[in-house]
Amino acid sequence: MNIPQSSFPRIIIIGGGFGGIALAKKLSGKDVQVLLLDRHNYHTFQPLLYQVSTGGLEPDSIAYPIRKVLQGYPNFYFRLAEVMQIDTEKRRLETNIGGIGYDYLVVATGSETNFFGNQNIQSNGMAMKTVPQSLNLRSLILENFEQALLTDDLHERDALMNFVIVGGGPTGVELAGALAEIKKGILPKDYPDLDTRRAQINLVQGSDRILPAMSEVASAKAERFLEKLGVNVWKNIRVSDYNGKRVTTDTDTKFEACTLVWAAGVKAVSIKGLDAGDFISRGSRLKVNHFHQVEGFEEIFAIGDVAQMESEAFPHGHPMMAQPAIQQGESLGENLARLVDEKPMKPFKYKDKGSMATVGRNKAVVDLKKFKFQGVFAWYVWMFVHLYFLIGFRNRVVVFINWVYNYIKFDREARLIIRPFKKEYQVSKK
Ligand SMILES: Cc1cc2nc3c(=O)[nH]c(=O)nc-3n(C[C@H](O)[C@H](O)[C@H](O)COP(=O)(O)OP(=O)(O)OC[C@H]3O[C@@H](n4cnc5c(N)ncnc54)[C@H](O)[C@@H]3O)c2cc1C
Repeated sequence: MNIPQSSFPRIIIIGGGFGGIALAKKLSGKDVQVLLLDRHNYHTFQPLLYQVSTGGLEPDSIAYPIRKVLQGYPNFYFRLAEVMQIDTEKRRLETNIGGIGYDYLVVATGSETNFFGNQNIQSNGMAMKTVPQSLNLRSLILENFEQALLTDDLHERDALMNFVIVGGGPTGVELAGALAEIKKGILPKDYPDLDTRRAQINLVQGSDRILPAMSEVASAKAERFLEKLGVNVWKNIRVSDYNGKRVTTDTDTKFEACTLVWAAGVKAVSIKGLDAGDFISRGSRLKVNHFHQVEGFEEIFAIGDVAQMESEAFPHGHPMMAQPAIQQGESLGENLARLVDEKPMKPFKYKDKGSMATVGRNKAVVDLKKFKFQGVFAWYVWMFVHLYFLIGFRNRVVVFINWVYNYIKFDREARLIIRPFKKEYQVSKK
């Protein structure tokens, strides 16, 4: 790889997500050479992916060029590259654009959808972890409604208009709420010749409450919000199979639906060479000490979703969320600078700022350390926090204007099939 030699130690960061970007920013101006590698040339603001899938936002308002974020940083290099392998002995990476050596390596590769080995669900269901996946989902939803117009078979038409969302965490709840709003406000106007009232939005949760990581009051309120919007919330049911049309569960309940979104699990993105050993936890995360060093390695660090730092307060590691990734990136930035200056590193301490989820217009739930609140005010807080953490001034302005417009007009205008998503299952054209 064509990166100049430097008298400074070379730090390679794999992944320009929340953790990787926070780390790179902290290293700016320090006596190090930084090389950031990512398979995308943009940072993705994953919390708003569901709005891309449901036509509320264009993808370019929640993605941001990595080069632009780090423009003007001294000793900083970015390469659009997929890292294929890590040779921990030779301290070298192999990527799709060539190999390169490192002095320090930071793995910040995030997480991917975990289908728990269920091939049928993986092939026939939809994931929503990346911008291309969200665009696929947007296209599929719209294509299914176009297909529903073409069939005389009522059973088939219903299946084309039905949704099953598996997983009652924030992603499932937010997506279900957005789909319910589309069903109510947009579908009847867009498809006047379809009885869109028959469309069903089913949220299926394996445990006895949705938003299990939040307080019980937040779970109960979110469930009430969803039911008010017309979402069917199914609890204590696990989806076991899906053939593209029929959803089977571990109970007698079955669903006929041509769209299944799997939001029921994630696992760390691992890289060959650092994917087996005592340092791998359940969920493929890399076990790190309190300085983010991967167990058994002094020069390899991990942050964000891919890292598991166990502590008394977090025996299974920190939650796989943006805040821990950002705070870990910042902490590691300071520690790497200290390490290079031959100063002792400081252990990481997570400051839990709370969690939140929105169900739709004027409806959100917020759990802070001291206060828990739900409803309109919570929704304003949710919007403010998301705008604040979105990268790029333009993106903040565009998202804000879109939200105001959608609020006033009860609309979501990005419902475009720009890049058709081809599914094997096709309705016969009559
Ligand atoms: C739909 C959705 C909604 C969410 N909502 C919220 C929310 O409301 N609040 C919240 O706090 N969190 C939310 N999260 C979780 C949050 O987005 C993640 O916890 C956070 O992105 C983790 O940051 P990270 O830096 O570890 O990884 P990421 O942000 O995922 O970044 C990882 C980067 O690594 C790159 N990469 C991976 N493998 C390679 C490779 N081999 N070579 C090169 N590059 C590679 C990827 O392209 C990516 O850019 C949500 C996630 C999803 C999917």
